[in-house]
Amino acid sequence: MQPQVPSRSVPYPAGRTSPRSTRVLVIEDEQKVADALREGLEGEGYSVVVERTGEQALVHLSNGRFDIILLDLMLPGCDGLAVLTALRREGLDVRVLVLTARDSLEDRVLGLDAGADDYLVKPFAFAELLARLRALGRRGRMADADRLVVDTLEIDRV
Ligand code: CA
Repeated sequence: MQPQVPSRSVPYPAGRTSPRSTRVLVIEDEQKVADALREGLEGEGYSVVVERTGEQALVHLSNGRFDIILLDLMLPGCDGLAVLTALRREGLDVRVLVLTARDSLEDRVLGLDAGADDYLVKPFAFAELLARLRALGRRGRMADADRLVVDTLEIDRV
């Protein structure tokens, strides 16, 4: 079993703007899935932090900055939807890709309504995950230009 090191991460080198500098927080309680995601994403050059519970993830989110969150919905304790709701309430500017074994229409709608940017139903092909991460990265960079923010109200102009 892999020790759970909440990586008090090395500060990210300033000035790196390539997609390889994307910081991903994986919130997944299943060890095998979490390990596979970490290994695969690090192999692609992503900077990856894994948290096994929603509670730990929220602590980590308040201390560090991430570009994308891969969020499993079925977590023990504070589940994925609760994590999503909490981080949107905090106004954290981070893309969220929901990973879920739930494939009912209702669950997908709940996830998107709670603030997810995209979702992927397990089991998924790693190539599709990578494509969606690239898409979210592009969307993140365009967000400032396409979005008018007035206090807590956001209006997409596109
Ligand atoms: Ca799970």
